[in-house]
Amino acid sequence: MTGTSAAPRVRIAPSPTGPLHIGTARTALFNYLFARHTGGTFILRLEDTDQVRSSIAYEKDILDGLHWLGLGWDEGPEVAGEAARGPHAPYRQMERLPSYAAAAERLIAADQAYPCFCTPEQLEADRKAQEAARQPPRYVGRCATLTPEERAAREAGGRRGALRFRVGEGIVAFDDIIRGHVEIDVSNLGGDFVIARADGTPLYHFSVVVDDAAMEISHVIRGEDHLSNTPKHILLFRALGYPEPRFAHLPLILNADRSKMSKRKSQTAVLDYIAQGFIREALVNYLALLGWATGTEEEMLSLDEIVERFDLEAVHKGGAVFDRERLEWLNGQWIRRLDADELIDRLRPFVEAELRAGRIDWMPSDDELRSLLPVIQERLPTLGAIGDLVGFLWVDQVAVDAAGLVPKRWDAATTRDGLTAARATIETVGEVTFEADELEPPLRALAEARGWKAGDLFMAIRVAVTGRTATPPLFDTLVALGRERTLQRLDRALEVLASA
Ligand code: GLU
Repeated sequence: MTGTSAAPRVRIAPSPTGPLHIGTARTALFNYLFARHTGGTFILRLEDTDQVRSSIAYEKDILDGLHWLGLGWDEGPEVAGEAARGPHAPYRQMERLPSYAAAAERLIAADQAYPCFCTPEQLEADRKAQEAARQPPRYVGRCATLTPEERAAREAGGRRGALRFRVGEGIVAFDDIIRGHVEIDVSNLGGDFVIARADGTPLYHFSVVVDDAAMEISHVIRGEDHLSNTPKHILLFRALGYPEPRFAHLPLILNADRSKMSKRKSQTAVLDYIAQGFIREALVNYLALLGWATGTEEEMLSLDEIVERFDLEAVHKGGAVFDRERLEWLNGQWIRRLDADELIDRLRPFVEAELRAGRIDWMPSDDELRSLLPVIQERLPTLGAIGDLVGFLWVDQVAVDAAGLVPKRWDAATTRDGLTAARATIETVGEVTFEADELEPPLRALAEARGWKAGDLFMAIRVAVTGRTATPPLFDTLVALGRERTLQRLDRALEVLASA
């Protein structure tokens, strides 16, 4: 085994066949944490051999997402004109085809792999027959024992075979760092498996092993969905005479109903979380907790703090439920910790998006945003919630209708009465200065004098000036709006009520 004495070398090996998935981000993070904690090396390798499904756009999405999370790699492919980094370049599998071809030659020469000429129709018929006989699918071995002459005859027709690896028999055992001792009977692997297509491009099991060996990967840390692949990889490491890395299979990430996390039931693309205004501090913190516990009551840790405490052996086996509410809570907590300038910088694009979408009529200045922070900073579960929270400040007019203006326990006449009296009070109080703690006592006194519940009066005012029933504290809201606009909006609400 390698990796016990030298500094660890670990990798994240995404296939650019879809946007950066929460699961891939979590795997990348755990590899990064392990590398940084142990003084090891974190490598990025792009597994792009599925040419049909791979795209540059997905590659960009994945790399941008990893950068955004702050998971920088020490070795990796050339991207956007920047040269590849590291002694094992290239780090893109499609640029490494000669090394798979050389490994394939070695396996063929040792008769550990053989060309298979079975047609898709034959394989399909085998599968159906096995299904009918209630047997698990496996390759029947039709091409395993062809003589050199039989092979030559098939190749003479111009056909090229796919390459199959002989699995042999016996038990494959390994000690997974997270799952402990694992044993799998080779007879359960589905027979000899294909390692390269007829056109020579390698399949995942093969390229991953050749590359992990070439890049001297000491620890393979990946999702539990790969656990059943590991025996195949171990057989290949052995057949090629490579040292075996250690394996650590991270627990599955689950939907709320404990099924495996899926696009259908959960939001899985990291980019979507970014677009909604989750911040990197929170996402990294939350992803780390998907399989690892801080070991203390303290849940909020920065990336550096997690690096310091991280222990691969402490990762648990049980599936980790993705709890969006908890993520939102953590995100809100992290937003509270941002300093004012940082928060304004991060909010600005979200306010701009509101403007582009036509939900607000103008952009607030940085100073205006700054003056709002005491009221909004602890009320934002996400940056994207800014529009819902205070977007009413940046519109010419809020949409109000008579039905919405009338609080539950009131009727239209009381509401008219209440808003008229409140308008007069606000106008007088606000003549000199317009401060939250100057507005509240007279409005409370007004409610009391008229026998209204203060809550009803405040609700009527709130809806009249913001168009919504949930807002930051009312008096702060009025101050943010300013005296003139508060009075204008009250007038307008009264007009709406009058014409109802
Ligand atoms: N390309 C594979 C994936 O994205 C890598 C799996 C592995 O780490 O071996 O799932």
